[in-house]
Amino acid sequence: MRILIVEDETELADGLEAILSRENYSVDVVSDGESGLDYILSKMYDLVILDIMLPKMNGIDILKATRKEGIDTPIILLTARSQLSDKIEGLDSGADDYITKPFDAQELLARIRARTRVPGSASTDELSFGDIVLSKHQQQLSCGERLVKLGNKEYQLMECLMINSSRIMPKDMLITKVWGPLDATEYNNLEVYISFLRKKLRFIKASVQIVTTKNVGYSLEVCDNG
Ligand code: CA
Repeated sequence: MRILIVEDETELADGLEAILSRENYSVDVVSDGESGLDYILSKMYDLVILDIMLPKMNGIDILKATRKEGIDTPIILLTARSQLSDKIEGLDSGADDYITKPFDAQELLARIRARTRVPGSASTDELSFGDIVLSKHQQQLSCGERLVKLGNKEYQLMECLMINSSRIMPKDMLITKVWGPLDATEYNNLEVYISFLRKKLRFIKASVQIVTTKNVGYSLEVCDNG
């Protein structure tokens, strides 16, 4: 999953990025409000962590503008402990949750998991489709007893396909979800990573396949290998 951090305190932003990256989230950081809103409006994020006091545009105005555009990406506000009015105004303006600074990393992670839980999945650590299970913490894919480790991009790609398993994912959407807006050099690698994943699916003898729909994108399907 891809998370956007909008925070102008460099140390805090770096700390957050490190915590989230360790948990296998893809993370982008921006440090002013205007850029923050631009990034949120791109709709490529699964969750946003938004500071309130920001240069150029404050977090509350960003929230209001985002919801006015009909974008329902989960947003967790970062607030100072004393500012109760900020919390109330934030929730009234469409924030899903808030966390007060200084915060506990485990608490923040729990709140993120709660806000990004995939409907119908029993565990926050695992996604399943057909006979395969993707484990977030171990970053591995398994089918029965057989399992295989995934690299970071392979994991992000598989997660995106599994979360959206009922539909065909357009190539450009997969690219922005997995590589983000800041890493354009890797754009040609999608096909390469899809082929890595196909090899790994064969290796664990999964009945799930990645199907290509020409000029549209990729989707997961359960195939009867007979
Ligand atoms: Ca700030």
